[in-house]
Amino acid sequence: MIRSLVFCLFLMVISAASFAQTAFHKNKVIAHRGAWKAQGLPQNSIASLREAIRLGCEGSEFDVWMTADEVLVVNHDGDFEGMEIEESTYAQLLTKKLPNGEKIPTLKEYLAEGMKQTGTKLILEFKPSAISKERSERVGELSVKTVKEMKAEKWVDYITFSYEGGKKAIATDPTANVAYLTGDKSPSQLKEDGFFGIDYNIRVLKLKSDWIKEAQDLGLTVNAWTVNNPEDMEWLLDQKADFITTDEPELLFELMKKK
Ligand code: MG
Repeated sequence: MIRSLVFCLFLMVISAASFAQTAFHKNKVIAHRGAWKAQGLPQNSIASLREAIRLGCEGSEFDVWMTADEVLVVNHDGDFEGMEIEESTYAQLLTKKLPNGEKIPTLKEYLAEGMKQTGTKLILEFKPSAISKERSERVGELSVKTVKEMKAEKWVDYITFSYEGGKKAIATDPTANVAYLTGDKSPSQLKEDGFFGIDYNIRVLKLKSDWIKEAQDLGLTVNAWTVNNPEDMEWLLDQKADFITTDEPELLFELMKKK
C-alpha cells in the first residue's frame, strides 16, 4: 500500500515537472508585431519575435498576408518595401530586405522560430484580402493548414478583422482559437459562431465595458489593442482582461510589478 502511494507521488512529481517545462507564460502581455519599439527592431521581424520571447511575453503578435503565388508571409502592411504583397510573387519580395538585413519571413519560418521555445505563444493575425472575399477566406484556411502541417497548434492562437476568414479558419480546424478584432460583434454572436475571444480596440471596450464580463461569462477571452499608455493598461488590469496587446511590453511588465 505504502509502496503504491510512493509510486503515485513519484508519478505526480514527474508529470508536474514535465508540465512546468512546457507551460506557456501567464502574464497577459502580448507584444504587438513582436517586441520591436524599445530596441529599434523592424516590426514583425524574426528579431522582434526573439525579443518578445526574451522578455517573457505571454504572446507575440504578427501579421500574415498571402502573395500572388499563395505563399504566406509575415509583414504588417499590405506592401513590403514598395511592393504590394498580394500582387507580388514570393520571389519578387525576396529582392528587398528588412532594415536589419532579414528577408521577409514566411509563416513557416516564423512558426519554426517560435517553436524553438514554449514560453511565448504565437498570435497569428491573418489579414483580410484587398482583392476578394475568397482570398480572405483562403488566407484563413491556409494559415490554419500551415499551422497543422507544422504541428504548431499548441503555440498558435489566431486573430483577424475578417469575419468570413475567421469562420473559415474555425471550419477548417474547429479546435483553432480564433479571436475577432473589428469590434462590431457582440460576445454572444461570436460565441454562437465558434470564436475564442474578443480582441477589440481599447476605445471600443471603454465604450462597451459590459462586453468584458459578458464575454468572459460566455467563456470567451478578452484582449485589447493597441494599449500603449499606463492609464489604459491599469484600466484593463482592473477590468481583469485576459490579454493586453501593446507596443510597450517592457512598460506593461513594469506596471504589473507595482500592482
Ligand atoms: Mg496585427
